[in-house]
Amino acid sequence: MNRPLPELQPLPDAERRHVAVVGAGLVGLCSALWLQRTGHRVTMIDPAPPLDDASYRQACSYGNACTFAPHGVVPVATPGVIWRVPGMLLNPLGPLAIVWRYLAQLAPWLCAFLASSTKAEVERIATTLAALLSHADAAWQPLVMQAGAERLKRHNGCLYLYKTEAQFQAADAEYALRQRHGVAMEQLSRADIQSLEPNLAPLYHKGVLFRDAYVFSSPRQLAFALAQALVYGGGEIIRGEVSAIEQRNDGIGLRIAGKAMLADHAVLAAGAHSRKLAASAGDHVLLDTERGYHVLFRQAGDLLSRPVCYPEHGFYMVPMSDGLRAAGTVELGGLAAPLNPRRTAMIRDGVKMLLPAAGQGSDEWLGFRPSMPDSLPVIGGSRRLPRLTYAFGHGHLGLTLSALTGYLVSQLVAGQDPVIDLAPLRPDRF
Ligand SMILES: Cc1cc2nc3c(=O)[nH]c(=O)nc-3n(C[C@H](O)[C@H](O)[C@H](O)COP(=O)(O)OP(=O)(O)OC[C@H]3O[C@@H](n4cnc5c(N)ncnc54)[C@H](O)[C@@H]3O)c2cc1C
Repeated sequence: MNRPLPELQPLPDAERRHVAVVGAGLVGLCSALWLQRTGHRVTMIDPAPPLDDASYRQACSYGNACTFAPHGVVPVATPGVIWRVPGMLLNPLGPLAIVWRYLAQLAPWLCAFLASSTKAEVERIATTLAALLSHADAAWQPLVMQAGAERLKRHNGCLYLYKTEAQFQAADAEYALRQRHGVAMEQLSRADIQSLEPNLAPLYHKGVLFRDAYVFSSPRQLAFALAQALVYGGGEIIRGEVSAIEQRNDGIGLRIAGKAMLADHAVLAAGAHSRKLAASAGDHVLLDTERGYHVLFRQAGDLLSRPVCYPEHGFYMVPMSDGLRAAGTVELGGLAAPLNPRRTAMIRDGVKMLLPAAGQGSDEWLGFRPSMPDSLPVIGGSRRLPRLTYAFGHGHLGLTLSALTGYLVSQLVAGQDPVIDLAPLRPDRF
């Protein structure tokens, strides 16, 4: 379902503020642009923003599976996950892995994750995700136009494939949930799949095509285009790491490399790194990370026409401007552990089996999804600091929901009623 959004009107001069946005991932960039569109002066701070020749690889927004995914109403924790997780975790080559030495730190998050997997919770969460997703494309359109990023969009849907009838039927409840929430989808036979994607090895029995999904062929170029649009519109981007956010009598203070910066309002959008900064403002948020990986197959960009995912393997294969990117899987292990080459080897082996002509993979990447236990983002005001708004925790849907998040952030900063009920996204909900 694709619902329009009310047009945001520029604020009168007296209500325009200086807003500092912490973090130049897609969520920060879209927030900055929507804030600027309503008339605020925006300063964005990031140690490695998408400017000039920056690699930008530290941002999760760099390395994702490039897919705008309106079918993403199903949260990660679904009924029965408590019985499936132990088996998955014990299989180091499965789509879900854990860094065992991180388990003690992860325990509160994991408990909340399991508590979110009841039938009632999944219904509640899916309803909220569906409400967000229904406006997500409408929020992207003006920003894509403004940034001249239309050329990056490839609208060809997204394909989920199953090797056996048993696997397909095991996903029944997920498809029923999607259907209840109006996700456009079409069941495909083996012959349909072969005609859509002839280069795949014939390791499929049935599939589902999500027609409304599309790809940004380079999330990196998308971020650079958004950053350029921000600067062109008068915004400022500062290279620096924010170490604390604090209330001041005359505004809100940010510490950047020992120096102080003052703004009227701040937006915290530092992705998986936001928990520490929220703590400096006095708020405890149950944010952790689901680490994800990608491998690039440079010569294979033409082999597929759309993102293809075998949920069994847990990664997408996506044709993009640099080649074919195989991206996904989940590793629970915090921000400190280095890239685990066994995880990327698993992706390489998977691609070799599913798309034999893909050739050699290169450019291995590890990124940190900012994840809340209930698969819902945090969008809302700090409990402690009235001039601080939080926008992080988008998990598997950050590219999809970043523009809408920016729209909602600009409504919050302007003191307007948000177009969607944000109570389920409160920062202090755990
Ligand atoms: C393998 C993989 C595949 C994915 N596929 C998809 C997909 O197909 N579709 C989809 O919708 N989503 C997908 N996602 C999820 C999506 O990429 C993320 O949810 C999204 O990128 C998060 O954006 P963000 O702006 O919150 O965080 P980030 O992109 O991580 O940006 C945070 C920024 O904050 C900066 N920062 C950190 N600390 C500080 C500090 N102290 N001061 C200042 N700045 C700071 C960082 O430098 C960074 O630039 C995928 C994720 C992964 C890992």
